[in-house]
Amino acid sequence: MTLTDELIRLANELGSDEEYSRAGGGNASVKVDGILYIKPSGVPLATLRADDLIPLRIAPLLDALHSDKKVDGDPVQAAARAAQLHDANGRRPSVEILFHALIPDPLVIHLHPLTSNAVTCNEHGEYLTKQILGDDALWVDYLDPGIPLARGIEEARGEFTRRTGKPAPQITLLGNHGIIVSGDSYAQIISLTRSLTQRIQDAIDQASDSGALRLSPSQLTGAALVLQEATGKAAHALSNSGIAIEESALSAGPVSSGPLIPDQIVYAASLPVILHPPYEPSAITRAVSAYHEEHGHFPIIAVLPQRGVIALGADAKAARNALDTFLDALRISRDANRLGRVRTLTHEERSFIENWEAEAYRRSIAAQA
Ligand SMILES: [Zn+2]
Repeated sequence: MTLTDELIRLANELGSDEEYSRAGGGNASVKVDGILYIKPSGVPLATLRADDLIPLRIAPLLDALHSDKKVDGDPVQAAARAAQLHDANGRRPSVEILFHALIPDPLVIHLHPLTSNAVTCNEHGEYLTKQILGDDALWVDYLDPGIPLARGIEEARGEFTRRTGKPAPQITLLGNHGIIVSGDSYAQIISLTRSLTQRIQDAIDQASDSGALRLSPSQLTGAALVLQEATGKAAHALSNSGIAIEESALSAGPVSSGPLIPDQIVYAASLPVILHPPYEPSAITRAVSAYHEEHGHFPIIAVLPQRGVIALGADAKAARNALDTFLDALRISRDANRLGRVRTLTHEERSFIENWEAEAYRRSIAAQA
């Protein structure tokens, strides 16, 4: 089987699987002797044939990628015209030719798969890629198609090699777009593509089972210690199971909208600080400073949506009490929504308690003096 035959087999197989491709979505190419043979726009992967492929010289494509020279019209189509080997009968190569050209592997397939896009179309895409796939995949943020995307991919590949000393991975995840898989045989690319899908599907299944991708106890404790340092509190208490992950999404009332009852304000403060992955110490410290700036005091509760809740206190008992108070609020909120729709205290209602509490505290201190 020639490399071109392997490409056609790959394109037809993945292109006719709804998991990987709808209608004309996706692209495929093969490199032979400095020439890139690529699927034209408008021909589906499922029915691609060897004589559909458009041959383009690779060198002029890479020149266009690295040049800042202004060109007339669309720079990608200009590069394609400069690179074309013979007349393409009016067919256009895809806007994605440049990233096909820059990836050195002979076979490259690009798809918009349903399962993998649960990661690429995700606020936490980069973190999830790292967590689920480690160094087996490269993450690239969303970029405009054409030259900006190709340059972003090239930059990410270079960064990976500088960081690890290894060649860039054969799998690339493109934010809000899809995947690229490359290799030197049909068998290799099929196996990489199917195992990528399986690993992400496993993570989705696991998340549906437990309510979240769980953090290890040491990760959560690490975050708690950073919070203690940032708030000057001596103790923490935490939960990463049950209600603390099942009901701690950003949409939960006590997480984003406000407290349910005045007691919650007294023991757990009106609102928690929200922490987002990957929970780096510097980011946690920044979140605490921003919270302090906005509320005039340090947070008592930190919510890691769908991963856990951390409470801070002057001693272990105070931290535990704050945690229990907040977890109770999450439970009440869930049950209120089952019956109807949760109502949180309004801004005016909670401001009164916040200020009243401060006054009451000052009064009690004053009484002791
Ligand atoms: Zn695409």
